[in-house]
Amino acid sequence: MIEDKNQQRTQLSDLGEFGLIDHLTQNFKITQSSTVKGIGDDAAVLNFENKRVVVTTDLLVEGVHFDLSYVPLKHLGYKSIVVNLSDVFAMNAKATQVTVSIAVSNRFPLEALEELYAGIETAANVYGIDVIGGDTTSSTTGLLISVTALGEVEANEEVYRNGAKSNDLLVVSGDLGAAYMGLQVLEREKEVYKVNPNNQPDLEPYTYIIERQLKPEARKDIPVLLAELGVKPTAMIDVSDGLSSEIIHICKQSEVGCDLYEEKIPLDPQVISTCEEFDIDSTTVALNGGEDYELLFTISQDDYVKIKANPNLTVIGHMKQASEGMHLVTRADTRIPIKAQGWKNFNA
Ligand SMILES: [Mg+2]
Repeated sequence: MIEDKNQQRTQLSDLGEFGLIDHLTQNFKITQSSTVKGIGDDAAVLNFENKRVVVTTDLLVEGVHFDLSYVPLKHLGYKSIVVNLSDVFAMNAKATQVTVSIAVSNRFPLEALEELYAGIETAANVYGIDVIGGDTTSSTTGLLISVTALGEVEANEEVYRNGAKSNDLLVVSGDLGAAYMGLQVLEREKEVYKVNPNNQPDLEPYTYIIERQLKPEARKDIPVLLAELGVKPTAMIDVSDGLSSEIIHICKQSEVGCDLYEEKIPLDPQVISTCEEFDIDSTTVALNGGEDYELLFTISQDDYVKIKANPNLTVIGHMKQASEGMHLVTRADTRIPIKAQGWKNFNA
């Protein structure tokens, strides 16, 4: 599919490492005041003055985290940035810089890497961050992308996973399960394509869920919104592995329990209809699907009035004493222990 889209094929060996990085990043602009020096020296130089700095890193591996038979390289570049920024926002911080390193085999022509970096550049522009460094090297097999993201936050405004208290409310932004169902549709269409390459799938009923899978967005707006509302979460995490495993992280680190209400879990209508079509339980998808990149956080009950009218935020449960455990309270009012079953990259 890469070959189809790129008529021109410039061999990477024609450029060399230095020529390649310069070429791929030549249009990238520096916009953050904390970036003193970006790409072009032995190291970048940053000045965060009195702010605290958060740093997070992620490694994406072809065949484990993405499949290039249906993920366009431009989307992959975009997503590789977004998934890291999501972790910065989960600290209640503002994202400021990233470094991007790739290992790539010679089956990729220069034009394919230009697509990847076009997606990276778009994400940098959308999120207002600077690309301040990176490395490229050759790989004997697939494509690897490593992104490190930095962000800044005022001292004591950062939010950890370990601050939730009993009786705090559990809140999530946006809706859940869409990225997982988008992946199910893409996997199905890939199988259909193998059998009949001339088949043109009608993906119209799935536009939202496919977009959530291929081009997710991180919730840059939520730390800003919470500051405007005068709410500092007691604990926060982003939903990358699935709601249940993120709840377990907050509960374990905060030493609390939780009741999660099934009827409160926010689902897009396209998720509900696609779950019906695939005969999958939508609650299971929200709990275990992952890759939603929404923010899950806890707030004091005193802050409920500040968030209750906001359409971006849904209260889905409340925290309890650790001894009371972690439960899903179903629509039928039965209590089921919450277990982590998210993406298991290691159990192939
Ligand atoms: Mg995270």
